[in-house]
Amino acid sequence: MSQREKIPVGILGATGAVGQRFVQLLTAHPWFEVTVLAASERNAGRRYIDACQWVIPGDPPADIADQTVLPLEPNLPARILFSALPSGIAREMEPDFARAGYIVCSNASAYRSVPDVPLLIPEINGDHVALVDHQRAQRGWSGLIVTSPNCTITGPAMALKPLHAAFSLRKVFMTSMQATSGAGYPGVSALDILGNIVPYIPGEEEKLQQELQKLLGTFSGERIVMPELLVSGHANRVPVLDGHTVSLSVGFDRSPTPEEAIEVLRAYKPVCGGLPSSPDRLIFVRTEPDRPQPRRDRDAAGGMAVSVGRIRRCPILDLRMTTVVHNTLRGAASGAILNAELLVAKGYV
Ligand code: NAP
Repeated sequence: MSQREKIPVGILGATGAVGQRFVQLLTAHPWFEVTVLAASERNAGRRYIDACQWVIPGDPPADIADQTVLPLEPNLPARILFSALPSGIAREMEPDFARAGYIVCSNASAYRSVPDVPLLIPEINGDHVALVDHQRAQRGWSGLIVTSPNCTITGPAMALKPLHAAFSLRKVFMTSMQATSGAGYPGVSALDILGNIVPYIPGEEEKLQQELQKLLGTFSGERIVMPELLVSGHANRVPVLDGHTVSLSVGFDRSPTPEEAIEVLRAYKPVCGGLPSSPDRLIFVRTEPDRPQPRRDRDAAGGMAVSVGRIRRCPILDLRMTTVVHNTLRGAASGAILNAELLVAKGYV
């Protein structure tokens, strides 16, 4: 696609932690060009640089810094909208945009568990994208909504997909150690998180079960058929800036040895590759006894891969392991951009 043919895209919630990642990633994107930065009424009409407390490394790109922040109205000059809105406002506004003909790639949780809305990680369930045909037919929308999963379940889902395909996953017991950037900006107070762990993240544990089932489900042509899967999750906020770590114990129909699991993970060929944001390698298996770690492994493949390590037997279920994934890249902005690339490649845009 040449420079002149770039697709105009907008960012809803452009001033937030995930919105800023979108700005950073889309600036040099080969297919997309940012034409809309939208945020709340508080910031509409202001220059982006003035409206936004930039919290990621570097500065906002110069051509973006001077753009005017627009209010959230369905007359924005863009074809694709990346939504980094809080869930409540996403629930209210995303269908209005889809009805008005926009392609909405959402990071918010509002529509992730709705049956006719795809929940996508293209490399593990890219075929689910065809659910939008059913969505459009049912709702009469000229646009559409697709969603990216919760940032915490993203890493485990990427690691568990090949193991599920090989051994039939049945039980997952998981404990998350979630970075502070996952709470957005300003997020958790320093007085709560410095030198501390907060063992509660509202709504998070429920999302783990629902979303893992949908991600690992099979597409029947009209709906996602969920696997029989029990998930028990403990969600913790920890004083790490970026990168969600999850410790898992998992049980299968056919119990693999750690060596068999490692072989399957290493051999995994993503369902869908070759898009501008898809990584060359999706899964990095670490065999050192003390890896993966968020500071050392969150940027694997530019923050698009999951690192999996400490794969060993479990005395209660079958295997134990630890995953690390970048929560604002793979778990948010980069994941949604990859979804948009998939929609373009499949002819939906
Ligand atoms: P955030 O830092 O709090 O940013 C929220 C954004 O939404 C800001 O741009 C804000 O604009 C805008 N907004 C708030 N209320 C609005 C309203 N009434 N109308 C229009 N815009 C409004 O949050 P975040 O961490 O970026 O998260 C954004 C979404 O992505 C959430 O749904 C979150 O659950 C999801 N998510 C986050 C992560 C992560 O790692 N952080 C990962 C996956 C998914 P103003 O600046 O004008 O208030």
